[in-house]
Amino acid sequence: TTTLIEMFERSCRAQGDKALFERPGLAPIGFAEALDRSRRLARVLRDLGVRPGDRVAVQVDKSPEAILLYLATLTAGGVFLPLNTAYTGAEIDYFLGDAEPRLFVCRPETLEAHAGRATESLAVETLGAAGEGTLMDRLAAAEPLAERAAPGAEDPAAILYTSGTTGRSKGAVLTHGNLASNCAALLDCWRFTERDRLIHALPIFHTHGLFVAANMALAAGATMIFLTRFDADEIITEMADATVLMGVPTFYTRLVQSPRLDAVSTAGMRLFVSGSAPLLADTHAEFSARTGHAILERYGMTETCMIASNPYDGARRPGAVGFALPGVEIRVADRETGAPLPQGEIGAIEVRGPNVFAGYWRMPEKTAAEFRPDGFFITGDLGLIDAEGYLRIVGRDKDLVISGGYNVYPKEIEALIDELPGVLESAVIGLPHPDLGEGVTAVVVPREGESVDPAGLAAALADRLARYKQPKRVILADELPRNVMGKVQKAELRKRHAALYQ
Ligand code: ATP
Ligand code: MG
Repeated sequence: TTTLIEMFERSCRAQGDKALFERPGLAPIGFAEALDRSRRLARVLRDLGVRPGDRVAVQVDKSPEAILLYLATLTAGGVFLPLNTAYTGAEIDYFLGDAEPRLFVCRPETLEAHAGRATESLAVETLGAAGEGTLMDRLAAAEPLAERAAPGAEDPAAILYTSGTTGRSKGAVLTHGNLASNCAALLDCWRFTERDRLIHALPIFHTHGLFVAANMALAAGATMIFLTRFDADEIITEMADATVLMGVPTFYTRLVQSPRLDAVSTAGMRLFVSGSAPLLADTHAEFSARTGHAILERYGMTETCMIASNPYDGARRPGAVGFALPGVEIRVADRETGAPLPQGEIGAIEVRGPNVFAGYWRMPEKTAAEFRPDGFFITGDLGLIDAEGYLRIVGRDKDLVISGGYNVYPKEIEALIDELPGVLESAVIGLPHPDLGEGVTAVVVPREGESVDPAGLAAALADRLARYKQPKRVILADELPRNVMGKVQKAELRKRHAALYQ
């Protein structure tokens, strides 16, 4: 089997000194240099005791060196385990206790807090935002690792913790086969080649920034314009010399707020991808009106890498996530029985294929509970296949509202609310209700400088929705709570307003 490292090595042979990383105001780093440094870093990891199968936990700022550390870990046969930089004390205790890494790489400024963790079986090293720290100090004196590991498709390559949108993050064990097969499918679907120049402004501790964006550039031999955070103005400037942007929906809602976004500033771009959370149809329409580009929305999750994508050629439908990637099977099944449902009916989205993870790290029961006997993984998302065969996501199973015994799918109501004048966005949630079990509740964010009248909004919905779907209460808010990936945290909203009907 081919692995990501083999794909990267092939890129390095073909691209030589071409830039892999470009950063505004800093020297580029070429493919050949990246290969050499990742090989020497792999040697450092070996010297620190990392053997095939050992976990390398990493909580560092985004930098090219952090990507080199990822490559070095795979080269040494280790299992890469990136951690959200927002996690602190007790959370880190949980992850390190759970994953039992051989090596923990932290930011230099947190070394004091973590130095005490070092034991016989856990080394602690540092890596800073500018590449400084003990790890790169060691690299300077290291020879390249002569024999790189040759893992099989079933061997673990990474443990990625889920975003924690619905509860505590779970560690998903991804294999070399998962990463390589998914990367190859995406390269093919999105026509991504060494001629591309990718604007990379996503965090690299999640599947989107690491296994979609970075892997594709590494495997294709494409240059990454590597930005440490999202800044709409900077991104529009970079578009002059780029071809592809991969982002979360908030990237796009912020880009359309810039007067600089137009057909001219995006003229050299060939593809805008959105994923990780639903893209508002409004944003899709506005972006296309302003630039002439139809954003391509895709769907994936930590446990499965990417699952479905709107077509590269052909209609990119707002509100839909498109078709299964090559080699991936999607079905919509009854939530309770698992029986496949006919087209058009809403049910649990299930998926099978070489993209599906090996299981949750050290949670065999949880893993078993999320798979059907025939190997389909239950994603936890609800959706349907529409008349044209596009997959449409209607929300998460956990966010389904059951009011008076009826299923209420929040997205249907949110879409109507979002179209009303003065509304920026909304979240529909179910809150404990003495009569109904759950009361349908709308949390609505007005557009800047505009106001929304809750009673008027409720009235506007009255003749457009069945009575049981109509919000019992409308709550106005300045913004919706989101995690780092820009996902709305409905669990947090439910907690905040838990007592509304009590
Ligand atoms: P946790 O599992 O810890 O609660 P999470 O599910 O948000 O967090 P991820 O694996 O990062 O963690 O996110 C995957 C989820 O993101 C999917 O299950 C789906 O709900 C959502 N998602 C991804 N892409 C899209 C999309 N294009 N439209 C709607 N939802 C999407
Ligand atoms: Mg999830």
